[in-house]
Amino acid sequence: MDLTPTADEERLRAEARAWLRAHVPAAPLPSLETAEGFAAHRAWEAELAAARWSVVSWPERYGGRDADVFGWLAFEEEYYAAGAPGRVSQNGIHLLAPTLLAHGTEEQRARVLPPMAAGETVWAQAWSEPEAGSDLASLTSRAVRTDGGWLLSGQKTWSSRAAFADRAFGIFRTDPAPVAGGRPHRGLTYLMFDLRAPGVTVRPIGRLDGKPAFAELFLDEVFVPDADVIGEPGQGWEIAMSATGDERGLTLRSPGRFLAAADRLVRLWRTHGDPADSALRDRVADAVIGARAYRLFTAAAASRSAAGAELGAGSSLTKVFWSRLDLALHETALDLLGPEGELADSAWAEGHVFSLAGPIYAGTNEIQRDIIAERLLGLPKGRR
Ligand SMILES: Cc1cc2nc3c(=O)[nH]c(=O)nc-3n(C[C@H](O)[C@H](O)[C@H](O)COP(=O)(O)OP(=O)(O)OC[C@H]3O[C@@H](n4cnc5c(N)ncnc54)[C@H](O)[C@@H]3O)c2cc1C
Repeated sequence: MDLTPTADEERLRAEARAWLRAHVPAAPLPSLETAEGFAAHRAWEAELAAARWSVVSWPERYGGRDADVFGWLAFEEEYYAAGAPGRVSQNGIHLLAPTLLAHGTEEQRARVLPPMAAGETVWAQAWSEPEAGSDLASLTSRAVRTDGGWLLSGQKTWSSRAAFADRAFGIFRTDPAPVAGGRPHRGLTYLMFDLRAPGVTVRPIGRLDGKPAFAELFLDEVFVPDADVIGEPGQGWEIAMSATGDERGLTLRSPGRFLAAADRLVRLWRTHGDPADSALRDRVADAVIGARAYRLFTAAAASRSAAGAELGAGSSLTKVFWSRLDLALHETALDLLGPEGELADSAWAEGHVFSLAGPIYAGTNEIQRDIIAERLLGLPKGRR
């Protein structure tokens, strides 16, 4: 694996650095988990898109720069190093867009991708249900055939940003027969729907910090036209799974995020560290090593992906690694800050609360460990 940057990559990095230096807001935007913060982040997405920085790896005709995965990784490093705002469009850009690029029609791509890139349409992921999280194939929300489309009914939950988002994508049961036959992964269909359509009720889920963006969705015969089915009816599981590997393994948490946090941690050690506390100093060093190791591991995954390989079960290794690294970075920072860190509404304290969810979302770490044990290591199935 040759990690020497190409001339194109260097140019993209330099251009991104200069643009970010001139445009990143001086003060942090309000939290995107609130109505005010959501609007501010949407405006930031529009600003990024106007300069074609919102989706650098997409084809130019949809608002991107045709960058390869290494160009995207370089951009992400610059983005986080510049302290730029969190991405409100993340679910759409990292989960729905790759699915549409691989399985959608040209009509769907041309209609959905440009407004997604500009933050005009923000997407929520509607996969989880109250009884279907880790065992997602046991979902019961259904789509029933009607003239020119489908009627969706059921309940989805844990939908990030859904309280303020515009549209959602999810999987629905269109054929109940495979469930009775012990094959619940069959008979599912991948659909896009409008969160403001008649029949949709969006109810925020109370969070510890009281911010209202996280939501559950209640669907009562919500009409979806045939044009919003992705792939063929019945293919929903395969289509949905083709994106999750990339999410866990590459796109959801790029190394730039952890490299920037590790740099901040080193700066924190310089101002708050006690030279006599070698245990804490070692944890700072370990966090830096973790962030750099993750960068190399990601480069290896990117090389394989660029050569056309599926990331497959290897994505589970990455997911467990980044979620543990995020926790370690934040716990070390809070230990460095002492009680002051918990009391102040600092970026470290907020980041710590979010890092606690890392082992849960994008598939829990217990499930990822099962995948690693069974599919990568060939160990026998555990008792469940
Ligand atoms: C911050 C956050 C954001 C999220 N955003 C979204 C979103 O935008 N859209 C969306 O659809 N979902 C979202 N989720 C939901 C997330 O994907 C689920 O929480 C996750 O898949 C786990 O499902 P569950 O909560 O139903 O837990 P369960 O599946 O009930 O699991 C409970 C516990 O049991 C363990 N467990 C379950 N089965 C097994 C097994 N076979 N072997 C070993 N252990 C097992 C799990 O690992 C976990 O520790 C989000 C979750 C969080 C925390």
